[in-house]
Amino acid sequence: MQQPLPKKADLISPFTFRIEWKDGAVCDYAARDLRLACPCASCIEEGTGRAILDPRTVREDILILVSELVGRYGLSFVWSDGHKTGIFAWPRLRELGTLRSGL
Ligand SMILES: [Zn+2]
Repeated sequence: MQQPLPKKADLISPFTFRIEWKDGAVCDYAARDLRLACPCASCIEEGTGRAILDPRTVREDILILVSELVGRYGLSFVWSDGHKTGIFAWPRLRELGTLRSGL
């Protein structure tokens, strides 16, 4: 499969992030779901992929404060819990969005 590329990626509410892909697909992401899927080394154990982050420590009302493009690679987010080390690659975001919408 080709690398999925975004046309537009933006917060549509403090709780919801939307990506419109170049192929026409639209994926909405709940802020908390993205936080739980954070791929950084303090949330996921490197090598094993085991989750370190305990979902019970992530508030239900967590927000995305800022989203930032990481070159052509993907996106990083700043969450209201202060976390900001995760970088989400586009293919991973596409995968997460597809799982959610059941496309
Ligand atoms: Zn993380």
